[in-house]
Amino acid sequence: MMGNLSDRLFHRLDSIEDVDSFYEAIDRKHLSQSLSPERPYTYWTIELYDKSNGIRGGGGLGVLAADTRRVAERQKVPFTLITPFYPSEPHQTYSNFENGAYHEKVSYAQYGFNFVDTVNIKANNQICTLDVIEKVLGSTRILCITEPNFGELYSGASGGDHRLYQEVSLGFGGYQALKLVGLKPAIMQLNEVATFFAALARLDELASNGMDFYEAVVYTRKHTLYTNHTLVQAAEAEFSYEQFEHYVFPNLKSKAVKKWLSDKFDNGRIRLSTVTIEIAELRSGVSKLHARVANYHDLAGNKVKFKAITNGIDIPTWTLPEIVDTLKEKGIIDKFDLPTEDFETNIDKLEADEIRRLKAAGRIELNRVLSHRIDQYGNHPVVDGDALVFDFKRRFVNYKRPDLPFKDPARLADILERYNIHYFLAGRVHEGDHVMGNKLRHLLEIVDRNPVLKQRVHYLPDYDEELGRALSVGSNASINTPIVGLEACGTSWMKDVINLGILISTHDGGVADCSSDSYLCVSGKDNDEEAESLYQRMEQAAYAWSNDFDLETIVKTELKNYVPVISGSRMLRDYLDYLF
Ligand SMILES: *Cc1c(COP(=O)(O)O)cnc(C)c1O
Repeated sequence: MMGNLSDRLFHRLDSIEDVDSFYEAIDRKHLSQSLSPERPYTYWTIELYDKSNGIRGGGGLGVLAADTRRVAERQKVPFTLITPFYPSEPHQTYSNFENGAYHEKVSYAQYGFNFVDTVNIKANNQICTLDVIEKVLGSTRILCITEPNFGELYSGASGGDHRLYQEVSLGFGGYQALKLVGLKPAIMQLNEVATFFAALARLDELASNGMDFYEAVVYTRKHTLYTNHTLVQAAEAEFSYEQFEHYVFPNLKSKAVKKWLSDKFDNGRIRLSTVTIEIAELRSGVSKLHARVANYHDLAGNKVKFKAITNGIDIPTWTLPEIVDTLKEKGIIDKFDLPTEDFETNIDKLEADEIRRLKAAGRIELNRVLSHRIDQYGNHPVVDGDALVFDFKRRFVNYKRPDLPFKDPARLADILERYNIHYFLAGRVHEGDHVMGNKLRHLLEIVDRNPVLKQRVHYLPDYDEELGRALSVGSNASINTPIVGLEACGTSWMKDVINLGILISTHDGGVADCSSDSYLCVSGKDNDEEAESLYQRMEQAAYAWSNDFDLETIVKTELKNYVPVISGSRMLRDYLDYLF
């Protein structure tokens, strides 16, 4: 195996002239014997957020999966992502202060997937036939299982039968699919515990094909990486033994594996994290802070250690092309989208005029997207030349605190008016989440009653990748204020920083990989103090856009700290280093 890869990678890979991916560079140094087209890196995920390839996700977990595959393709890493293709996708509507939904049918053929064959799994005393479909993209492929009644992503209760059916289909069906297309996994990365059954399918195959059971366990453990995104184990839904009798045990061939799994139940209940920990010796968390504080225990009661591998983003996907060009021309990122050796010195060459010019180009792109999106009143918002844009764009869930800026509506209105700011709020409410549905209505009623807010606060329904990118590219400042300790990493803020926006954030998730003076930090001992801090930071950010020195200082400080964090190539290199 490769050993201390990142040490050697720091001897600049980009000094190798005639390669255009870091995988080739690694190969050239004979560091990689572990991966090949027939034995790829396999990545298992219940959620993929990659609408250009036909699959819409729910949030960060799926965006991360999509970005990981894109980076692998760019860097020519043999990589297969296995995920369900959901035949229906939910969309959010918002009108007359009511959160609504519609469901769109999607067909895989329309997105260029090819039908391979079918595989069978057993569920609820029936044989279920799943279509296996695939799409090859460079050195990577997306391999999906699907059937017409597969349902939607995260439909039904999280400990419910339908979820278990979907998870078992991905695991057992996906594992057969991999064999069907002639692949053997070099490594199995489990993107959260919903993919546990893939590792179980592998263990069962090894144990039922003559390998000693304990050897099969050791082998599976050594080649499985569990990537955790959650903080509290106790918050995870449980399944019952009875549910496993209907959906899981019938798919197992090995008696020893059945026995092993049965023994993991506690009072007839099981959490998938407990067994995922047992089956995966490699375990990672998604930021430094998260890896440190994630509170997980194995069945023996020992605290689980997670290796910190902070999420990154595929820079070309999320960044205005003019900005990518500038970052490369100035020698801030190299041809692999990794920070250059002297990136900090080169960041100092950025000037306020250039930052403004690039943001003006981003504003044109934002307005282009806004021209076919609507706000809470059904209008297409347009932002004129001089106005500033601030945004809050993320799933509308309580811990992310979309309501924090609205704590004192008069204060917010005053700031927006004095600095000529338009504030964009985007984030879907999960269908059936009445608490957050009501909270959104309450916020938008506050906005409706205040004439300044009514003119300047725009809620954009049906938040998706297009809006996420457009707002990152076009916003002057972005607000990210999770309750400290609850965000595992977050990636929206990375899109904002790389697009030269000002980040206003609490010190949490991946933001806390660097010190709290790397960005405009929101802090305080309670909600009121944090709201006060937020208003001050909003004024500071707005003022900076009219002051060259402040603008340069803030943007350069962010870039110097976060370019190495943000780089998705850095993330994939860290995974390769940890795994091989
Ligand atoms: C980037 C992005 C996310 C990630 O959100 P975080 O909460 O920051 O992890 C979610 N949804 C969409 C549509 C995105 O573009």
